[in-house]
Amino acid sequence: MSSASEDYLYRFLFEEFGVRGEFVRLDASWRAVQERHDYPSWVKPALGQTLTAVTLLSGTIKFKGSLTLQLKSESDIQALIAQATEQRTIRGMAQFVETPQAKPDDMAGLLGDARLILTTEAPNGERYQGIVAVEGGDVVKSVEQYFEQSEQLPTRLWMAGNDDTFAGLFLQRLPQSEIEDEDWSRVCMLADTIKDDELLTLDVETLLHRLFHEESLRLFDPEPVAFRCSCSRERVANTLVSLGEGEVTQILEELGSISVDCEFCNANYRFDAIDAAALFKEAESAPPQVQ
Ligand SMILES: [Zn+2]
Repeated sequence: MSSASEDYLYRFLFEEFGVRGEFVRLDASWRAVQERHDYPSWVKPALGQTLTAVTLLSGTIKFKGSLTLQLKSESDIQALIAQATEQRTIRGMAQFVETPQAKPDDMAGLLGDARLILTTEAPNGERYQGIVAVEGGDVVKSVEQYFEQSEQLPTRLWMAGNDDTFAGLFLQRLPQSEIEDEDWSRVCMLADTIKDDELLTLDVETLLHRLFHEESLRLFDPEPVAFRCSCSRERVANTLVSLGEGEVTQILEELGSISVDCEFCNANYRFDAIDAAALFKEAESAPPQVQ
């Protein structure tokens, strides 16, 4: 389900002091996320930022498997979930109330205070999770706060977006770097001069030159990013098997069939009594791994 696109993650390094940077632009992948759900316009900016943020984080955090960024709140936007794999495939979704209490352009009010949860999950199921409480309903500031509190790594992000494109710039002081505070302040001040339309339209070389032409920068090869959902009928089947035959039979007696929608890509998986019987017969002979 991935599509050819102009979606790329770029990594760069300030060679004279320990600061790393990234720039990402999401076009087709961001539109793919929007096509699969009818998100109201007041939800989209925060969802686009979360998707952009997880892509940037996938370039800095060491992990194998998947990296999931979640913001959970009691406000109008109840959950923002975005996931990246080490192959730079991404997916994202939002949960939200039907009628928001905050004004549609009040992003801080719509998300409110939240918990930021960052999870890495290796293919063998090994998980690492970091959680911080974040204030003020701002995705960008929340990620900055996460690094400050849980990793003690000064980090800054800049983002811009609309229904077609989201773009983000990321700077981080490397651990154990010898950088002087004034160098860090200077590159952040330079990055602060970026305008939204520059983030959204300039190619990476032009953008970096415009901001940092007096610094010595090394730009690495671009890494393509694509939307892909990891759901499958087999995964849903495994979940049903782990529920147990008794519970599944009971649901089937009540509802006739079991229908599961993937919240990320909207794919629908349906199992009737015959499918379920086949599943449990198969499970007896070769027990599948529980997810
Ligand atoms: Zn899916």
